[in-house]
Amino acid sequence: MFETGIRQARMAIATVSGRRIGPQLLERLAGDLLTTLHEFGAPGDDVGQLLDGPFADPDAREHFQTQAIRRTARRLAAQSRFYRPVLADVNVRRLTLTQLMTIPPTTKADLVARWPDLICSDVTACLSTRTTGTTGRPAEIWMSAYEARLWPALAALSSMLRGEVGPGDCLQVNISSRATAAVQTVARMCQLAGARIRVLGQVPVRQSLDSLLSREPTQLNCYPSYLAELVTEAWRQGLSCADFALRTINVGGEILSAALAAAATETFGAPVVDGFGMTEILPVSGRVCDVGHLHPDLNTGLVEVLRLNGSAPAAPGELGRMVVTPYFPYRDCMPVLRYDTGDVVRCLPEGPLNCDLAGTPAVSPVHGKASHIVDTHCGPVTTRDIVEILESLPGLPWPARYRAKGRDGFLQLTIAASALNGLTAAQIQDRFADHGIDTLVEVSTSDEILRHVRADLSEATFAGAAVTTGA
Ligand SMILES: [Zn+2]
Repeated sequence: MFETGIRQARMAIATVSGRRIGPQLLERLAGDLLTTLHEFGAPGDDVGQLLDGPFADPDAREHFQTQAIRRTARRLAAQSRFYRPVLADVNVRRLTLTQLMTIPPTTKADLVARWPDLICSDVTACLSTRTTGTTGRPAEIWMSAYEARLWPALAALSSMLRGEVGPGDCLQVNISSRATAAVQTVARMCQLAGARIRVLGQVPVRQSLDSLLSREPTQLNCYPSYLAELVTEAWRQGLSCADFALRTINVGGEILSAALAAAATETFGAPVVDGFGMTEILPVSGRVCDVGHLHPDLNTGLVEVLRLNGSAPAAPGELGRMVVTPYFPYRDCMPVLRYDTGDVVRCLPEGPLNCDLAGTPAVSPVHGKASHIVDTHCGPVTTRDIVEILESLPGLPWPARYRAKGRDGFLQLTIAASALNGLTAAQIQDRFADHGIDTLVEVSTSDEILRHVRADLSEATFAGAAVTTGA
């Protein structure tokens, strides 16, 4: 029974032509699956493998990717004012993956400056969503009504088939309310999957904790920095996993350190599932497997890793920046070709993968933004390198707050005196030295915010004001 549902879903997802997919078809499949779930319970363990697509075999993968890129480039050449001149000298019907690499990547600056030219002329924009990251001026991405229906239907099908969400679930959503595409998608996905949803936004953590203590939410969606604040507050209140009814905590958008993931799992009694998603490249996403690789979803987009400097592909074991092309007909209104995410990953060494998502290629988890890398005589130091070490130090508050820059070949870290909690600068330097990073730690006595995180995008409420004033 499930096999039939999976095959139908795969047919609809992977066997696409140059035309748009009817979202109503996918919604109907989700409805059929919901009925099947009611009758037969959870899908089997092999469902994930069936969903992962033809990506284990390099030849099948290249064929799929070439067809998808041609389909995408063909539409951009015809409908996008931004890409028409870029593709003017390219035979899009015969475009190869090698030729694609000669097309310059699109940047966030292009999105900010040229967004009207990036909206395709054969669609009507309906909903805008803005980036909410901490790296400068937001980019605005417009979605069509088709995308607003298609993305949740795709998400519902894959989440239901993987047993990630279903009837009986209640999702508590603590991501920024301004991430409208993500909120809209998850709300509609829950509706299709027969689950309930509580969209709270980034309200004061005590309110979110109160909601979790109602034992209604079975899943929590938030940013790692917000999770860090939730864990800290739960400890302060003396709460433990027996107080909550969570089965999964889903995070993304920032570095999740191993120390924070372990603490959250222990405190809330649920595994933390790290994912990759970014407004600019929707609906392409990625999942982190049981051994910590990032596996991008290759059904909906092409993922390249380019060297930190230049346009050549990064070598196995090397750090590089992720460049992503969402495929038509999954991306419709304001598509991007070779979007430079600025997110840094490490290419894995060559050889077979040994993980629960081994059927699809992988890279390392995201290490942070390329613009945040500090060059030292020990090599490039990434945000992940720093956060993993700082968040593993006992006493240092979460999320890790610091300022990092290079100085005479060393990593110079500035940390607030109020955060040290008895640790000394020398102890922190020693811990970095243990990880092969020569570091100079400078202690700051000012109360400036040293590093912005998404948890700083707090959303005020009157209830929050009453709580914080003790009223
Ligand atoms: Zn893996």
